[in-house]
Amino acid sequence: MIEESELPYLRRCLEPAAEALAAGDEPFGAVLVGGDGTVLAEDHNRVAGGDRTRHPEFEPARWSAARPTPEERAAATVCPSGGHCPMCAAAPARVGLGRIVHVASSARLVTWLEEWGAAAAPVRPLPVHEVAPGVTVEGPVPELTDEVRALHRRFHGA
Ligand code: ZN
Repeated sequence: MIEESELPYLRRCLEPAAEALAAGDEPFGAVLVGGDGTVLAEDHNRVAGGDRTRHPEFEPARWSAARPTPEERAAATVCPSGGHCPMCAAAPARVGLGRIVHVASSARLVTWLEEWGAAAAPVRPLPVHEVAPGVTVEGPVPELTDEVRALHRRFHGA
């Protein structure tokens, strides 16, 4: 269950998403929040340079692999602006992160792209639990979904 107290972190992941957009990249962002509410890591999408694997959901998992204890990783939450793609969905499970809360779902993004006539992603929008059944997934966050939509709409010029 998403707590009211988590909304600031979920809103925070929209900041790197907006930074990505300002840098000409697709507006995805993610933050990793520790069990005590500390922001441990954050990143934004970096695929505009040509490496299409540089998704922001991957970096928090990579960061956490080397630093926090297994207990701290299990207590941490990954907050991405959009749903994890299958590539990124595997990463939290591989390093033992316990939970994902996405603002907008991958399925929702697919419908937006269709609506705007944008090219579909080359990877199926599988639900995270089909890739990583042990990771708890929550979202979307209705209070913030419109802001995510607005960022993507601007990117696609729709
Ligand atoms: Zn991804």
